[in-house]
Amino acid sequence: MSSSTAITNIATLVTNDPSLGDNSPLGLIQDAALVIDGERVVWAGESSKAPATDNHLDAGGKAVLPGFVDSHSHLVFAGDRTAEFNARMSGRAYSAGGIRTTVAATRAASDAELEANLARHLAEALRQGTTTMETKSGYGLTVEDESRALRLAAAHTDEVTYLGAHIVAPELAEDPAAYVALVTGEMLDACAPHARWIDVFCEKGAFGADQARAILTAGRAKGLHPRVHANQLSYGPGVQLAVELDAASADHCTHLTDADVDALAGGNTVATLLPGAEFSTRAEWPDARRLLDAGVTVALSTDCNPGSSYTSSVPFCVALAVRDMGMTPDEAVWAATAGGAAALRRTDVGRLGPGARADLVLLDAPSHVHLAYRPGVPLVGEVWRSGVRVA
Ligand SMILES: [Zn+2]
Repeated sequence: MSSSTAITNIATLVTNDPSLGDNSPLGLIQDAALVIDGERVVWAGESSKAPATDNHLDAGGKAVLPGFVDSHSHLVFAGDRTAEFNARMSGRAYSAGGIRTTVAATRAASDAELEANLARHLAEALRQGTTTMETKSGYGLTVEDESRALRLAAAHTDEVTYLGAHIVAPELAEDPAAYVALVTGEMLDACAPHARWIDVFCEKGAFGADQARAILTAGRAKGLHPRVHANQLSYGPGVQLAVELDAASADHCTHLTDADVDALAGGNTVATLLPGAEFSTRAEWPDARRLLDAGVTVALSTDCNPGSSYTSSVPFCVALAVRDMGMTPDEAVWAATAGGAAALRRTDVGRLGPGARADLVLLDAPSHVHLAYRPGVPLVGEVWRSGVRVA
């Protein structure tokens, strides 16, 4: 039997439901209350109008917002790349080849090591307010190692992505066609049962348009839905391919032509921006303002991985997006919650209206704006997932 709980005395409640509160995209309610019954939100509104409940919690004037939805990470890995980061910060350019270092370490690791590492990073993210986290394979690149990564990931999150097409496996570097045949054949058959999504790194040095189309189409035929690493390091075909295949998301979107922006604005594909990658590689920022002004749906995510973006902190990404990518604090918070949900085609998370899963963050601050206003400060006070306080 479930019991109801009212959280009252919320200074600012972010519902992401424009029909509630101030009619803005964030659906802000001041001096608010939120009522949870079991694992769902059943009511949100002004504190003075809250219905009677079994339990009561005084938020003490904190802000409450939906738990972050981090729609892009690479958490099944072993080893680290401290030396590579240190070298890059001393002037060496980043290329896709660094992935091979993590592939070697991941193949050599035991299941228990990989799972402990994954669980540690998911717990780290949860403490920072992330209640839904997608994660990918992509550091195995053999039938055994990719399916192992996905089996381990699926034990910890519902949002699992098959990324056999991260780079061509080192042992097939001279025969990329043979690797694409493996990724779309035996490897796909072994991986599809453990995944919801299929992803491709569509980039010079990784996979071209024809290869990416073949991989995503094969995945779709096995019931996996596409998403694409697109236009990160250079201009290229990834974004338009993502829209063409109705991918849920085109991720990175750092180098975009006007035609790319138009394609995103005209399709159902979310542009997921990953500023941790630009931060950690000292690269040019994606232009969020340009995308938002064109009417594109934008998500913000960490891209947490040991090579190009070793942060699990969504608040850090929100602060970067506001400071360096032209987003307002409201837009960045929306992108890290409702935007992430859209990038995963989820309607039960990323919002706090009636019917939503009771995934929420209590900030040690009166407003969500403080996430950007007070960068680097651990403002996440409490985290609730499915109606249970977890951090
Ligand atoms: Zn990535």
